[in-house]
Amino acid sequence: METLNSAETERKLGFMTRSVHAGNDIDKETGAIRRPITMANSYALPYDPSELNWSSASGNLYTRNGGANQQYLQEKLRSLEEGEDCVVLASGVAALSGVFLTLLKSGEHVVASDSTYIAAYRLLHELLPGKYNIQSTLVDSSNLEAVKAAVRPNTKLIHIETPSNPTLKISDIRAVADIAHEAGALLSVDNTFASPYNQRPLTLGADLCVESLTKYINGHGDAMGGAVIGAREIIDRIRADAMVNVGGVISPFNAWLIMRGAVSLPIRMRQHNQSALEVAKFLEGHDAVRFVAYPGLKSHALHAVAARQMENGFGGVMAFGLRADHDAHNRFVSHLKVVTSAVSLGHDESLIVFLGEKDERQYLYSDEFHDGFFRLSIGLEDTEDIIGDIRQALEKARI
Ligand SMILES: *Cc1c(COP(=O)(O)O)cnc(C)c1O
Repeated sequence: METLNSAETERKLGFMTRSVHAGNDIDKETGAIRRPITMANSYALPYDPSELNWSSASGNLYTRNGGANQQYLQEKLRSLEEGEDCVVLASGVAALSGVFLTLLKSGEHVVASDSTYIAAYRLLHELLPGKYNIQSTLVDSSNLEAVKAAVRPNTKLIHIETPSNPTLKISDIRAVADIAHEAGALLSVDNTFASPYNQRPLTLGADLCVESLTKYINGHGDAMGGAVIGAREIIDRIRADAMVNVGGVISPFNAWLIMRGAVSLPIRMRQHNQSALEVAKFLEGHDAVRFVAYPGLKSHALHAVAARQMENGFGGVMAFGLRADHDAHNRFVSHLKVVTSAVSLGHDESLIVFLGEKDERQYLYSDEFHDGFFRLSIGLEDTEDIIGDIRQALEKARI
């Protein structure tokens, strides 16, 4: 019997087919049509192991050098992101730090989006300059002139997040890729908010795509992981540094869970996209709502760019604020029943988090954001139930 894993056959197949089949195969030992979980730290050595490279990341030696389940997951993600190679790591932040610390040396410079996941900000703004003498310039990467102006002769990397966490800024991937390449730098894109179903940065000119697998790709809120996808030569270096030598390896069980979750990524994303657009429109039309930031709304400043580069939809995350004071925002959340107050996003259940007025990144909170706002991740519940829940909570909180 033939299976679908030769790269040749795979290229002709659609995203849904690859979500199901890529990385899976018939287990040679048992004939099971699912690859099993291999919860083993070590793999059998050859007759004479003395010639082996103990730092090799080619797998089948020690799980930190590449266990079976992480290799299967890498095959799936490489296929979904349309990249040459992939490394999976313990978390999205392990993937981000892997990119920064592998590609940047002391004395070099990185330009990055000013609106990013908080740990990316800490890495870029504190850890890299403070400990490694790697300078960073944070810019509004939706403004191409600002990106161009921030590039220096020693800029080796531009890192953007689009849509960004938590303000849903959009950056033009193709245009920023051109700026990076003109300057002899690489572009990495954090694609977590979009997922490969909606956006594939490598096909838009990015050199590296970073994903927090903890979010949409696993989708069930029960396992953490991260991935970097790109050219084999760069991924090999990240694998050697971030996984083998720094130790950011994913557990086989989490890799297996994420592999299982990723099968339904396209159908989940369809529902997230559709439901989030309806919720965003509902919020935009509600008197109690001060603003909504969602790239799918025509009111979003970079809606046209988002529509061009996010081919299937705008994802499930939005930000919004109420025409109310600080306490009323918390009161509203306390009345929600379907939507859960918790961090993270891209889970099966809807999640909301109140981000108050105080943040050291005050530039992030320019415009409407400075009065406090919510990040809302729309889950897979019935859209009417999510909208109904928000409506009743607004009423009960008397906003
Ligand atoms: C959550 C998140 C991360 C970090 O991922 P973890 O798996 O939590 O380490 C990175 N980037 C974005 C955009 C995120 O939302």
